[in-house]
Amino acid sequence: MKCLICNNYFYLKKSLLDLFKTKKEYICDKCYKKYPIHLKYELIELDLYQASIISLFDKKYNINLNVFYKEYSKIFKNYFNKEEYQVIFLDYLCLDDRDLEALDGISKLFEKNLIVVVYAIINNQ
Ligand SMILES: [Zn+2]
Repeated sequence: MKCLICNNYFYLKKSLLDLFKTKKEYICDKCYKKYPIHLKYELIELDLYQASIISLFDKKYNINLNVFYKEYSKIFKNYFNKEEYQVIFLDYLCLDDRDLEALDGISKLFEKNLIVVVYAIINNQ
């Protein structure tokens, strides 16, 4: 398979149990180690509601982040059906006044606590 980040070809190790299953990966081991996932959870109090922010990385990477679809869908499955929350996906979040105001507005619009899944929380300084 071809890694969508470094464009090198790589092979998947298969065991007897999954010998005939087709596994699809879009990222090689090397890249997986180079761009480590640091799942972080942060709770922010908004005006009337709360925002739980789940970020995947420590910093912004200029790579094809779609390769992390498995991690993304795991988070998605965990939170998707919780009626008391509104789940939103954003690429990056800065947590400055502007972003916090936007989250506040979104929570008031849906009248729910938010779960915000982002690739990373970044500093805009
Ligand atoms: Zn790679």
